Amino acid sequence: MVDDISIIEQLKAVSQAFKMQLPEKGVEITRQWSAIKKDSHDLVALEALYRLTHNLAGAGGTFGFSRITDVAREVTDPLRVALKERKTGLTATERTTLEGPVKLLIELCMNPSDDAKEEIAPAPTYFPELPSSLHAPSKLIYLYSESDNGMDTLIENLQNLGAHVCQFDTRQTLVKAVNEQMPSVILFNPISAGNDFHGLDLTSVIQLPPMVMLADTADFKTRLTAVREGMEGFLVKPVEASSVLNLVDSFRPQEETAPFRVLIVDDDQNQAEYASIVLNQAGITTRTIYDPTEILDQLAEFNPELLLFDIYMPQCSGIELAKIVRQMDNYVSVPILFLSVETERGRQLEALQTGADDFLTKPIRPKELVSAVKVRAWRARTLRWMMVRDSLTGLFNHAVIMERLSNSFTLAKRQESPLSVAMIDIDHFKRINDNYGHSTGDKVLVSFSRLLRERLRGSDIVGRYGGEEFLVVLPDTTIGDAQLVLDEVRVAFAKTPFTANNKIFSATLSVGIADYPHANSATELLDTADMALYQAKEQGRDRTMLATPP
Ligand code: GH3
Ligand code: MG
Ligand code: MG
Repeated sequence: MVDDISIIEQLKAVSQAFKMQLPEKGVEITRQWSAIKKDSHDLVALEALYRLTHNLAGAGGTFGFSRITDVAREVTDPLRVALKERKTGLTATERTTLEGPVKLLIELCMNPSDDAKEEIAPAPTYFPELPSSLHAPSKLIYLYSESDNGMDTLIENLQNLGAHVCQFDTRQTLVKAVNEQMPSVILFNPISAGNDFHGLDLTSVIQLPPMVMLADTADFKTRLTAVREGMEGFLVKPVEASSVLNLVDSFRPQEETAPFRVLIVDDDQNQAEYASIVLNQAGITTRTIYDPTEILDQLAEFNPELLLFDIYMPQCSGIELAKIVRQMDNYVSVPILFLSVETERGRQLEALQTGADDFLTKPIRPKELVSAVKVRAWRARTLRWMMVRDSLTGLFNHAVIMERLSNSFTLAKRQESPLSVAMIDIDHFKRINDNYGHSTGDKVLVSFSRLLRERLRGSDIVGRYGGEEFLVVLPDTTIGDAQLVLDEVRVAFAKTPFTANNKIFSATLSVGIADYPHANSATELLDTADMALYQAKEQGRDRTMLATPP
């Protein structure tokens, strides 16, 4: 849980540090200004003054000194035009016009007083918290239903697939339940999504889980209504339980429990620290660098999922930095957000042409910063997740599991550690399709995938090899140990009941296992595991066969 008091204290401390540095900045501005008054083409002094006022414009408001932001902007904007656009010094008129704001800014720095009414640190409830569903072990589903039509079957099937379903028929009880325990999803089954449709109105809910509309029709108007009511998913009745669970999986990728990693690059230490405190309290992990030239090391080491760049930095601009990152294949899809005092939309758009994703303007409220970062990081993570996953089962797809197998083999060989590979095939799967329908077949595949994920270690790699065949790579595992684990899976699966057309049935597995060092390449591992699987089939199915006895 977030420790609100300590966040407020931390933010206050950074504001305090900023305030303490203000008189020093005032002295510095005085010094540069007197140089400029002697020579309005002194580019070094102009650049220094630009930099000082630019930073103050960004930081002032952030730390509760909004007057400083306003006045600093009056100074920094004309300086930018002169230095960055015309690339000249100041004209005599410009210098005269600047005199007033510069004097005022110096005064504000020498005797700083913050905006008493403007709260610097947000109230404790201000920050969105991570939903508790992130820690929920299995899928908790809330179904809000205005009619029972067809819902009993859905609930039963969801429960067969391992979900826990709670049904609600009033909004009050639903809201109360959501506040008590966050579900993985709310399914919303309205009587009609037509004209008299009204949404859930969960305004009294602190943190909303994803919501999915169960609709009678898939026309544009119903879809629009669903989107306007904040539904993240849309399913047309009759709804398959497996479709619901797949959708939930797509909202909540497996890796989701890990906090997002954000790399902050800002030469202004106070600003960087502010962003970092605000993001940390929202459960986001940050790393900060003040010198942009260190970015290559940090990209490799920290592997950030989002980059937050200041624009104006002495060594290299945020825009140049974005261009560098976009030239690196591994990071083309990492979202980049600029956080800068730049308010002119034209120049913001120019910056965005580097392939960055958005432009946030300093000073920024904590809530806005957190939500901008979370939305982008979330989307990037989900996209990456979808690219490597099989859409039905959520397991690694064929290409990815093959790549992982090859990597694991290389690693095992280098470390001289054992490695086992299991090829699993569902027995007589064609009959399941023939007897109960293709969608029941799908359900069996999804359910088996879940069982695999639950029973195997986090370090084991599970993929859908194709159709009803699965490939499991078990690093650091001897063939004997692999057999023990997979036999457990096999027995558990055989005991899992499925229902279709009011009939209960079950299915069995055949498994073939091969291992390193008994195979000399990833291909050989695969071939020998496949041969062992073939033997298991030949000898009557529902069994595990080893390519090489332990
Ligand atoms: P065996 O015990 O020898 O493995 O027999 P089998 O029937 O399981 O094997 P076979 O290879 O003859 O049939 C596999 C079937 O799996 C055929 C195919 O239509 C079905 N299948 C493949 N992918 C999917 C899928 O995504 N969903 C469903 N429902 N069926 C699928
Ligand atoms: Mg089969
Ligand atoms: Mg097969």
